[in-house]
Amino acid sequence: MGRSPRWRPRSLLPRPLRLRRISLWAIALGVIGCLVLGAIDPSRSEEAPPPIDFSQFPAPQVHPMPEALRRWRDQPKARSPGALVNPQDDHYFDQMVASPLGHLVWSRWPVTIALVPPTVAPDRWLTAVQQAIADWSPYLPLELLPVGSAEPADIMIQWGNPTLRTEAGMSRAANARTTYEFYWDRRDLQKGDRPRLAHRMLIQLRADRSPPQLLGTARHELGHALGLWGHSRDRRDVMYAAAVAHPAHLSIRDLNTLVKVYEQPTRLGWAIAPADATSRAPALLD
Ligand SMILES: [Zn+2]
Repeated sequence: MGRSPRWRPRSLLPRPLRLRRISLWAIALGVIGCLVLGAIDPSRSEEAPPPIDFSQFPAPQVHPMPEALRRWRDQPKARSPGALVNPQDDHYFDQMVASPLGHLVWSRWPVTIALVPPTVAPDRWLTAVQQAIADWSPYLPLELLPVGSAEPADIMIQWGNPTLRTEAGMSRAANARTTYEFYWDRRDLQKGDRPRLAHRMLIQLRADRSPPQLLGTARHELGHALGLWGHSRDRRDVMYAAAVAHPAHLSIRDLNTLVKVYEQPTRLGWAIAPADATSRAPALLD
């Protein structure tokens, strides 16, 4: 008797479009985080992804920019006398790293966030995280789910004591750590719809820091989760890599970089292509 297959293709898709689970989950892990001093190179992930056959995935396309971010982009910005650059051009997009499937752009709004606070003295941690969410909310629609909500969130912010691996391979305590993974989103599918390629984020955040540092770290990690996958070299930006005594508020450069990220094509958020467009796709059967 033959072994039964470990995974049976879902009947939703016609046979040529069935994907092996491994093809998505094997490339699922991306890690970024900030140490107390110094930072991990965001281009390094803890597990190198295997080669990907991109013929299986939706083609990269640009999503419509959310209204709030577009409004901010299009508002007139003051230029200081003698400034050498247009404020719109003042960004650090060249420090951003795309995932194997493209920039980590959200396209289904609002982005939902769930919190798992520390069990002991959660108030200080919750205050910082909720303030960080409020700081980003004017630019991207975010929705905080009630504690204990059964709905799976796009971004999970969880109390924890994460560690990161340094370039020398040593394990060090970190203020926070953010990871992403990919999955096929089958929510709200109508008959004939195809699943979307989606991502979700997990932020692990320590609680034993001063309130300003807690807020600065929460704001920074939420920046990663919202698509800023990389670090600024300027300590006046929220996405500066190292922890500082007085963390920055959102800067024009942070927001300009966010705009640039949301102007990039990505495979994320798009449905798998129709059968006729992928007739060349090889080896998709399990
Ligand atoms: Zn960081």
